[in-house]
Amino acid sequence: MKREFTLLQKQQFDLLVCGGGIYGAWTAYDAALRGLKVAIVEQGDWASATSSASSKLIHGGLRYLESYDFKLVRKALAERQMLLKIAPHRVWPLRFGVPVYSDSRIGRLKLKAGLMLYDFLAGIPGSKMAHHYFNRRNFSSRFSFLDTFGLKGGFSYSDAQTDDARLALELIAGAVAAGAVCVNYCSLNSVGSRQGQVYGSTVKDQLNDATAEIHARQIVYTSGQWATESAKSRSWCRVTKGVHLVMPAALTDEALLLTAKADGRVFFMIPWYGKTIVGTTDTDYTGDIKHVVAEEKDVAYLLNAVNHYLKTAWTGADVISSYAGLRVMKRSEKTSPSAVSRDWELRTASNGVHYSIGGKITSAREDAATIVDKVCAELGMDVPCASRRLFPLAPEEDYTAWFVAKSQQAAQLNIDAESSKWLLRRHGKRSSEILNDVKNNAALGERIFPTVPLIYADLLFCARHEMVVHLDDLLRRRMPLIILNKIKHAELNNLAQFVSSELGWDASMIKREVEACSI
Ligand SMILES: Cc1cc2nc3c(=O)[nH]c(=O)nc-3n(C[C@H](O)[C@H](O)[C@H](O)COP(=O)(O)OP(=O)(O)OC[C@H]3O[C@@H](n4cnc5c(N)ncnc54)[C@H](O)[C@@H]3O)c2cc1C
Repeated sequence: MKREFTLLQKQQFDLLVCGGGIYGAWTAYDAALRGLKVAIVEQGDWASATSSASSKLIHGGLRYLESYDFKLVRKALAERQMLLKIAPHRVWPLRFGVPVYSDSRIGRLKLKAGLMLYDFLAGIPGSKMAHHYFNRRNFSSRFSFLDTFGLKGGFSYSDAQTDDARLALELIAGAVAAGAVCVNYCSLNSVGSRQGQVYGSTVKDQLNDATAEIHARQIVYTSGQWATESAKSRSWCRVTKGVHLVMPAALTDEALLLTAKADGRVFFMIPWYGKTIVGTTDTDYTGDIKHVVAEEKDVAYLLNAVNHYLKTAWTGADVISSYAGLRVMKRSEKTSPSAVSRDWELRTASNGVHYSIGGKITSAREDAATIVDKVCAELGMDVPCASRRLFPLAPEEDYTAWFVAKSQQAAQLNIDAESSKWLLRRHGKRSSEILNDVKNNAALGERIFPTVPLIYADLLFCARHEMVVHLDDLLRRRMPLIILNKIKHAELNNLAQFVSSELGWDASMIKREVEACSI
C-alpha cells in the first residue's frame, strides 16, 4: 500500500470520502467493491482519532438493554455475528464474566433476563456461545484476582473483540486493492459548489503543503468529532470523552463487565495483547477536539472503579499508558452521557454533501452500506452491496484448519504461541509473507519486548507495506507497542533505526521522529 497524493488530481471520482476512521474506511471499501471510483483522504494517519481509541469490542452492548435500545442492540449483534464469520482473523469471540455480589446494582434475576434477551437478539440461545451461570467457587476460580467478599457467583456471556486501528487499516488496504485512491496526511480544506451543488474540493498534502483540486460527484464527511467544526453539523451532535487505561496482565482469555460503585456506570476489564484495558469513562466534552487526553481525574475515576473489585489494588505506578477518544452522538437533552443512544444517522446538506453522525465500530459496516446506497441513488447507479460477504485479508480456507496449520508453521520457526496467535490475527492471509521473512532470518521471529507478543518481522512488514509516514503511526496503530509498554527514549531510537532503511529516514529524520513520538 503506497501513499500517492498525485493520483488524486488525475481523475474524476464518483465519491470523495473525508476522514479515514472506521466509517470512512468501510464507506471507501464498500463503494470501491461496488465499482465506484473512490478517493478517501485522512488529515492524519488512518484511524488516528476515535477509531483507535475505543474499547475494541465488536458487541451489541449489553448495557443498552437497560435503556430499551433493542433496535440498536439487535443491529449490532447481527453485525457481530456476520463479522465473526467473514473476518475471523480480525474479529474473534471474547467471553465476558459478570460477577454478582450481594450489593450489585443489578441482581442475578435481572441479569439473567438481560442475558437471555441478549442471546435471543443475537440468535444464539442454546448454542455454545450462549450465557452460563457459575457459582461463587467456579466464578472466582475463573477470575482469581477478584475480591470474593460478598461474591455470590457470576455469569459468562459471549461478545467479540477486534484491533480497531488494524480493522480500519485493513479496509483501507481492501479499498486500495479494489481501485480506490487512499491518501493519509491529506486534509480536505473546502468544498466547491456550482449552482448550489457540490462538484469537488481542494485538499492539502500535510507532508509538503501542496494543494490539489479533486473532482468528485458526491462527497461524504465521515469526520467524527470534526463534524462539530461547522456550525451546521455542530447543531446535530453531542460530544463526550472516553478514557481507557492500559494495565498489567490480569486476565487470560476472558473479559469482565463491572459496575462502578461511584455512579453505577458499567465499565470493562479487557485482555489486550497480554495486558489489561480498563475503561471507559463517559463525560461531556467541550475542550479542544484536536487534543483529547486522559486527565488525572479520569485516571483516578477508573483506578477507583476497578480497585473496588481487586484483591490487590493497582496504583498510578501500575498504569502503563492511557488513551482518550471522543464519541459523537446525535444531539439529545438527556443529562447523563451514558444514557444517550449510540445510534447513527446520515444527514445531507442542501448542497448535496453527506455527513455521517455518531455510530459504533460494530455497526459501521452496515451504516457505511447505507451511505453508499444513498450515493449510488444520487449517481443513478444500482449496484448491490458486497461488503457483507467479502473481507480483505480473510483466509479463503476453513479458518480453524488455516489457524492450526499456520500456528504449526510458526512453532517450527520458534515463534512463541502467543506471538503467533496475534500475528495471525493481525495479518490474516498476509501472515505467510511474515513467516517467510522469519524463515530467511530467524532473529526476526523474536519478540521486540519480552512481555508483548509482537515480533520484529511484523514491525518490518508494517514499515514496508502499510503506508507508515511517522514513527507514531508504526508504534501506536500498526502495532501498539507504545500503548503496551513504557518505552524509553533509547528504545524508541533503536526501533526507529531498525526501520529507517524501509522508511528512507536519515539520522536527522530519525531524531525528529523519535522526539515527536516521545511527546
Ligand atoms: C471511549 C470510546 C470507546 C468506544 N468503544 C467502542 C467499542 O468498543 N465498540 C464499538 O463498536 N464502538 C466503540 N466506540 C464508538 C466508536 O469508536 C466510534 O463510533 C467510531 O470510532 C467513530 O468512527 P468515525 O470514523 O466516525 O470517526 P473517527 O475515528 O474520529 O474518524 C474521523 C476521521 O476524520 C478525519 N478528518 C476530520 N476532518 C478531516 C478533514 N477535513 N480532512 C481529512 N480528514 C479529516 C480525522 O482525522 C479522523 O481520523 C467507542 C467510542 C469511544 C469514544
